[in-house]
Amino acid sequence: MSQDSNSTKQRTYAPSQEFASQANATADLYTQAEEQGEEFWANQARDLLSWSTPFNSVLDWSNPPFAKWFEDGKLNAAYNAVDRHVEAGNGDRVALHFEGEPGDSKSYTYSELKDEVSKAANAMESLGVSKGDRVAVYMPMIAEAVITMLACARIGAIHSVVFGGFSADALRSRIDDGEAKLVVTADGSYRRGKPTQLKPAVDEALSKGGKSVKHVLVVKRNGSDVPFENGRDVWWHEALEAASTEHTPSEQGAEDPLFILYTSGTTGKPKGILHTTGGYLTQAAYTHKNVFDLKPETDVYWCTADVGWVTGHTYIAYGPLLNGATQVIYEGTPDSPHRGRFWEIVQKYGVTILYTSPTAIRTMMKWGEEIPAEFDLSSLRLLGTVGEAINPEAWTWFRKYIGAEKCPIVDTWWQTETGAIMISPLPGVTETKPGSAQIPLPGIAVDVVDDAGTSLPNETDGFLVVRKPWPSMLRTIWGDDDRFVNTYWAQFGDKYFAGDGAKRDADGDVWILGRVDDVMNVSGHRLSTPEIESALVSHPSVAEAAVVGAADETTGQAVFAFVILSDHATTEARDETELSEEIRAHVGKEISPIAKPKKVLIVPELPKTRSGKIMRRLLKDVAEDRPVGDVSTLADQTVMQQIVDSLGTK
Ligand code: AMP
Repeated sequence: MSQDSNSTKQRTYAPSQEFASQANATADLYTQAEEQGEEFWANQARDLLSWSTPFNSVLDWSNPPFAKWFEDGKLNAAYNAVDRHVEAGNGDRVALHFEGEPGDSKSYTYSELKDEVSKAANAMESLGVSKGDRVAVYMPMIAEAVITMLACARIGAIHSVVFGGFSADALRSRIDDGEAKLVVTADGSYRRGKPTQLKPAVDEALSKGGKSVKHVLVVKRNGSDVPFENGRDVWWHEALEAASTEHTPSEQGAEDPLFILYTSGTTGKPKGILHTTGGYLTQAAYTHKNVFDLKPETDVYWCTADVGWVTGHTYIAYGPLLNGATQVIYEGTPDSPHRGRFWEIVQKYGVTILYTSPTAIRTMMKWGEEIPAEFDLSSLRLLGTVGEAINPEAWTWFRKYIGAEKCPIVDTWWQTETGAIMISPLPGVTETKPGSAQIPLPGIAVDVVDDAGTSLPNETDGFLVVRKPWPSMLRTIWGDDDRFVNTYWAQFGDKYFAGDGAKRDADGDVWILGRVDDVMNVSGHRLSTPEIESALVSHPSVAEAAVVGAADETTGQAVFAFVILSDHATTEARDETELSEEIRAHVGKEISPIAKPKKVLIVPELPKTRSGKIMRRLLKDVAEDRPVGDVSTLADQTVMQQIVDSLGTK
């Protein structure tokens, strides 16, 4: 049932009676959270998790911003995600339906998952991994990635998943920063119908660094011929074959680290975001249950993210399994072998809850609604999006062509740092509004503030902050408490600064306006401006570089790089198109193909202020094809004209 409000107001969609009557969440949750304060979270922690030692202390905020949640409690993440469902008699329920890109598939029940996780935990222990050790996970989207994460959690080792699309260099820096003892990887995977290799990047990373690494555990995924270093490298199947299915989960303190996940910041060096156990798991389970309305007996849930990102942590490896869900994981891309692949998977498994990204939706929109129309999508009952703002057109298309105009859509705002969803409609409760993430979840306190941290009235642009500690908040940046304090807490004192601009509309609903720092968001992936700039200047032909994120119809933002060539490159008289392409490829190799600029523009100068600061906003005007803004603060006011002229002649 949808409702048209008056013409000056945005159209909203009221929940259907049918959905609301069965929803997990009720409006009551907001009142409970308000009335109970911290005790609300304690109740969630007790209801949704099994604790081997119950906690008495709920929140210790005596040394802000270093929070401690449920500190005297003990539990194990893997036990909560797997074993307890088997003990409760649900061992035969499917936990994971793995769908490979070439069309191979394999399902794991909770009992089977328990055996696999236990064997992997035993195998890792026999390779010398123990509590507190870091394990780098560099894998494709295969079941073994989830099994590895849970096996780490089972023994109390800290996983550090590195997106399989990252370069050898990016992998090396993350291995070195975390001083990982073990790397878990695969020989390769499949991408758009072709086998790819992953293991050679690990070898390259370890040839340049990674002195802390003692072993590399290698899953045989596509059987490609990869180099193997005897003594260091171990095949996963051999190690697991020899391992027992019996393994006692280690008892972890609620504040013991669960994982590190690197994310781009405003400087070139990625930040190792540290999450701990009890609070993280509590909010993962709570949000997954209420935002996705999960009914573990009947739902089939599918989150299309990769485990390399936080969404793949909280809403693949932890949230769904903690709640005993049956979920699908998919190895490949949406267009392989055809553009209906996502919908074919929904149809094959009878997916009821689909969580994906605005970029994926916009891409499908471009391909046309005839494609999803060829498949039976009638099983779907709830849709979700994450990673970037969703424009109302894409939201409406998603609802109409995928959700048959009946599925509630949850637009979920959160970050690697927040660990779990913070702002989202509650399905069955909230009247949804295309394009807005709307309201903080019960228990979460956000605000929109000005430069001085003062709360702003509705309809005013400002900065998004979180006013109160929350259970799944990051605890620090690995090895760098100062950077943690300076990045997130220095700006507004006791409030967490998210790095996003936001406003509340006349109804008080939150609209996210994008990053206000040097971070770009391309297809929902966070990329750091300085990181790409330093990759650009590491190319021998580039003297100076400036990067901006320009609005892009499909990917939200796209990377535009403006480069000045080095003297020797200008005298070499190379073909500029060829050179630009070479520079693009260089960034792809240095960081990852996702960081490759959409365009590399060779320019004679860069716009700088008298103090030498590059004025990226003017370059953004050029990239977005707008008249160039105010140039009065430039040291040389003719520079922008020179840039425009030089591009005009190319
Ligand atoms: P990451 O930590 O990589 O998940 O990226 C988090 C960033 O993605 C946020 O700071 C936002 O800029 C953006 N983001 C995530 N979800 C949303 C959303 N629902 N609406 C708007 N922006 C979002």
